[in-house]
Amino acid sequence: MPDTDHACRPELPRPHRRRPRTCVLAIALLAGSAGVTAAPPEPPLFDAHLHYTGVDAAALPPEEIIAILDRSGITRAVISGMPTSAVERLHATAPERIIPFLNAYNAPGAKRDWMHDATLPARVAALLDAAGGVYRGIGELHIFAADAQSPVLLALADLAAERELMLQIHGDAEVIDAVFARQPGLTVLWAHLGTKPRPDAIAPVLARHPNLYADTSVRDGRFVDEQGQLRPQWRQFFVEHADRLLVGVDTFWTRRWKRFDEVAAEIRGWLGQLPPAVADKLAHGNAERLFAEEKLSREQP
Ligand SMILES: [Zn+2]
Repeated sequence: MPDTDHACRPELPRPHRRRPRTCVLAIALLAGSAGVTAAPPEPPLFDAHLHYTGVDAAALPPEEIIAILDRSGITRAVISGMPTSAVERLHATAPERIIPFLNAYNAPGAKRDWMHDATLPARVAALLDAAGGVYRGIGELHIFAADAQSPVLLALADLAAERELMLQIHGDAEVIDAVFARQPGLTVLWAHLGTKPRPDAIAPVLARHPNLYADTSVRDGRFVDEQGQLRPQWRQFFVEHADRLLVGVDTFWTRRWKRFDEVAAEIRGWLGQLPPAVADKLAHGNAERLFAEEKLSREQP
């Protein structure tokens, strides 16, 4: 996604805080003695959409990424990027925390034409084999309605189903429909609430596909008005689909990593205006459930 946002950023209300004061004080005292000053912000976030590329890695080694996640209160994160070795190194640094998705592209331009590359599914299968089971999904795959019936896409859906992996798709509703028509049992993460990020456009797609989850990354600015107040139609959408939505920062370039704290605060700004039980599901509960369930099914013989 391009960085289109926020020439003029509204002042955001404080997110709700549920950590007891005594606990904050105890953490501050402990942290003070270790040379660290601040407790991570609340609520904890499970980020469902991050990227870490070779360009990012040249500027920010894995230890710095983990420090960013620490100070931004990110407990776990779904991360993909090119080359896959960058993501694998990051995962090796914090295997409990980083959930790697396999980037299927082998060149920057592949984002536009990968769906016409008949050699891609076999290459992806070989990369999955070589990585020895660390990947939990394939993506982010950029694809739009005209290519919804691409044999390459459908082969990736088959591969994901066979290996119990998720697909992360940045694309139109027609693509989501095609993938579930092919593999109804698949779990799909729909990036950025799809390509028509309006409640009336997203809700029917979620209703059609019970295994579809959508991440809210990059759309945060749409949810609030000029005063930073959550818009009523989005509040209603979040409450009605509280079990199907996941937050994310989407580090689509290195500068986004460098302003990570600011984007995480923006997410907490709108989350904090939702009923606490709904905010908790979007912030981390849904992703924890999703990845815990997947882990259980993967461990069964
Ligand atoms: Zn992305």
